[in-house]
Amino acid sequence: LGSSYMSTVAQPSASKRNPQRVPNLIGGSFVDSKSSSFIDVINPATQEVVSKLPLTTNEEFKAAVSAAKKAFPSWRNTPITTRQRVMLKLQELIRRDMDKLALSVTTEQGKTLKDAQGDVFRGLEVVEHACGMATLQMGEYVSNVAHGIDTYSIREPLGVCAGICPFNFPAMIPLWMFPIAVTCGNTYVLKPSEKDPGASIMLAELALEAGLPEGVLNIVHGTHDIVNAICDDDDIKAISFVGSNVAGMHIYSRAAAKGKRVQSNMGAKNHAIVLPDANVDATLNALVAAGFGAAGQRCMALSTVIFVGGSKPWETKLVERAKALKVNAGTEHDTDLGPVISKQAKERIHRLVQSGVDSGARLLLDGRNIVEEIFGPVLLVMEAESLDDAINIVNQNKYGNGASIFTTSGVAARKFQTEIEAGQVGINVPIPVPLPFFSFTGNKASFAGDLNFYGKAGVNFYTQIKTITQQWKDSAAGGGKVNLAMPT
Ligand code: NAD
Repeated sequence: LGSSYMSTVAQPSASKRNPQRVPNLIGGSFVDSKSSSFIDVINPATQEVVSKLPLTTNEEFKAAVSAAKKAFPSWRNTPITTRQRVMLKLQELIRRDMDKLALSVTTEQGKTLKDAQGDVFRGLEVVEHACGMATLQMGEYVSNVAHGIDTYSIREPLGVCAGICPFNFPAMIPLWMFPIAVTCGNTYVLKPSEKDPGASIMLAELALEAGLPEGVLNIVHGTHDIVNAICDDDDIKAISFVGSNVAGMHIYSRAAAKGKRVQSNMGAKNHAIVLPDANVDATLNALVAAGFGAAGQRCMALSTVIFVGGSKPWETKLVERAKALKVNAGTEHDTDLGPVISKQAKERIHRLVQSGVDSGARLLLDGRNIVEEIFGPVLLVMEAESLDDAINIVNQNKYGNGASIFTTSGVAARKFQTEIEAGQVGINVPIPVPLPFFSFTGNKASFAGDLNFYGKAGVNFYTQIKTITQQWKDSAAGGGKVNLAMPT
């Protein structure tokens, strides 16, 4: 199943005639599930069935966890330099197969091919970062904490960890998860989104080709039931989740009740504040790109822009730019944005637009009449009298993923940076996602947990500290007197 998956499912025309079953990956082998329940993986641009995804059976899930558990002792003892080299090879293979990976992302998720390349590339950067794990995983050492006694700490892997993925970044988000986890010495069970599992399967094929030993990375499929099984399984020590708040908070509490650590990146409503002194062209381009890129299905997509001092001077030009966007299948070369993920998502967006109009919103540009399973996303335009008012509007929002300001005033930008309640702040940057040497730092309702994805926090999430205090006495020195009091 393995390599054939890469060559056939990545081809939309080949797959539609005979949709392939998405395999599980258990103990180094891609295996067909024995499940009797399958979900269609749909190409959102054409509504064709790309592949059939099994609801992995409980027995298969247990086999995946047990393969990961079995692989752990030898993998954790594999030199960190060797583990890094697997990542070094993996990043090379991802570059080699970038086009195939991107085509799979476009076929199953709908975003444009160029944007799909970005999806893969942003994940690739995490793999590159994992190549330096030895330095990232270093412990600390204090010599002579008392006479002849030293204390040092080491960061050790946790054991079997799991990742639960959303649909919107089929390549990047699995790559936020397993490369850091396994390079720290953990083994892994990945559950891709049931809507677009293809990129995860391909990445796993590449990881095996790169030399990841069998059982270190396993893949299972499904929805609620398998997620609950992951939360409940005593052999799984940590869960990385990215997705909606309903699922994320459920997973956070259910898994925490079982003593697991959880990092849960969730929903967002990202705002941009535009001051009258902002650079007009650069700001408008940034707003349109961040509002409508990937059909608005990025967790850092811009959903609301607040024009301080009034929106009128901006509206016409904003609409002109939005009107010029080409909406079509992501595989067409001149497409600016592709379809949203499903008919249901499109209907939901229509309902939201209508409810806005019903409550008095002006529709500056109606994108609802675009035919086929495609739809332009929604950018809400608001006005505020002052920067203080605008910051208040943003801070009243329960989410805290990202927020940006557009201005040429350093004073205003600094005030915004200080007062805004968002984890990722952009100053003249519309989508301020940090590269992997920092961490992805959503806050408020956009994140549950205390160790963020990737960067130093990501390494801390996937490791636990052992602190050693050592004393080596010369045997000739003798034992001295017994002392029962705590040393002072
Ligand atoms: P989703 O929550 O529907 O699904 C995510 C995963 O959880 C899937 O694997 C799904 O099978 C599982 N799942 C869904 N509902 C569940 C439930 N009730 N119980 C147990 N498991 C469940 O999310 P999605 O629609 O795939 O992704 C879009 C969401 O993800 C948006 O809210 C977006 O903002 C968010 N997101 C956040 C970030 C971030 O870093 N903060 C990044 C990407 C996406």
